[in-house]
Parts: sequence; structure tokens; C-alpha cells
Amino acid sequence: MTMVRGVRILAASCCGAQYALPNYMSMNFSAFEFWTDGWRDGSLMPNDEGLRRCQCGQFVLLKNLVEVSTADDSTLPSLGHVSTEQLPECIASAASDEVELAARIMVWHHLNHSYRERYRQHRDAEEAATKAKWLAAHPDNRSWWDKLRKRKPPSYIRPANSPFTYPTFEPTPEQQQNMERLSTILASRDGESLRWNAIPLAELYREQGRYEEAQRAMDAVEKREDDVTVRLISRLIKERDAAPMRYRM
Ligand SMILES: [Zn+2]
Repeated sequence: MTMVRGVRILAASCCGAQYALPNYMSMNFSAFEFWTDGWRDGSLMPNDEGLRRCQCGQFVLLKNLVEVSTADDSTLPSLGHVSTEQLPECIASAASDEVELAARIMVWHHLNHSYRERYRQHRDAEEAATKAKWLAAHPDNRSWWDKLRKRKPPSYIRPANSPFTYPTFEPTPEQQQNMERLSTILASRDGESLRWNAIPLAELYREQGRYEEAQRAMDAVEKREDDVTVRLISRLIKERDAAPMRYRM
């Protein structure tokens, strides 16, 4: 459950403007869909990388705001979210690598959305066909007597060896260019920061079809066999598959 208690008063370092933000005591990270590029769908938590626009026009990151105090309530304004349309301006005027990184991650997610939609439609259609085939092979042959005795109709179980395909992923030049710049920024990190970003970096290389570099980035990830994301991305690199992939936790 996400719990909020009062507000935090934060100041932006660009102009000193103060804002009141909800003071989260605990956060709900549940989502209906996870994607290998880090996008979560149906999540109660925003996917916006903490990017905001200060009233002075500067793009800022929530983590870089300075906490002034906490309060039960406040009349101070909240901080505006950054829309997709503002991202090119944000990238062009980014005051730091951190801000450019956040904006480019949002662009990466945004540009993958049309693939996500094609993927969902393709998967739904294939699953519907699998189910139709199964139902045709398992007709409801119950007699009126069976029904009277409340015998259950055959109930669908997805056959284990059913086809699982998805559309080919062909990034546009705009997507390619953004992923290239993003992976350059992330690869220039070192030590703790590089390890922290190793999974998105591996995924970026993979979606560009740069599998050797993806594998090297993956080698820097702390090995946890129970990590669904790590296992899935590792498998896709070995299979030389560049498509963003949906999964569930
Ligand atoms: Zn400002």
C-alpha cells in the first residue's frame, strides 16, 4: 500500500523556489506489466524518472531538490510533471548529464510504446487462436443429463507447447539515435554507478542489436539467479533477440 503522511517542503537549487510534495511513508511497487526496458504498466508509481520543471523554467530532478522541512499541509505549489512534448527541449537545455539521462530514458520508453501496443495485439490474437483450437478439440459433449448432474464443461488449460511469437522490433532512426546516446552516457559511468545501471545498459545494447556489448554489461550485474529481469535479458542476449519484452513478476 502507498501511504502518504503530510508534505515535504523542498527547494530547487536553480532559483530557490519552494514546493510541497507528498511525503511518502511507503510505496507500492506493484504493476500489472513489466517490460525489459524498465517500463511498468498499470503501476501505481509514476515512470517519470523524477524529472520535473521548476517555475523558473529549469528542468530538475526530484532527488536533487533540497529538503527544507516537513509539514502536515502546505499552500506551496507542487512541481509540474514533464510532458513528452517537452522532452526535446529538456534534452537540448539539460543543465547536467543526470537531467539528460532522465529525459532520454523517458524518450526511450515513450518511443517503445507503439511496439508495446503491436506486441499486445499480436500476443492476444495468438493466445485467442490457441484457445479456439483447444476448444474445437475439446467440445462440450455433455448431455442434458450431465448438465442436470452439474458435470463441468471442459475447462481451458493453455497447452504447454503453444506458439509464443511477437512482432519483429525495428527501431526507427530516432529510436536508434536516442538509444545510442543513452548507452554512451551510461557506459561512461564507473564503479558503483556503472553496476547500478548495468541492466538498463545491457538492455539498450540489446535493443540496438549490439549483443557482445550487452553481454559484457550483463557480466557486471551482480548475479542473482532468482532475478526474473536478469534471467530474461540474459536469455534474449544469447538468442540474439532485440525486441523489448513484456513479463510478469
Ligand atoms: Zn528554478
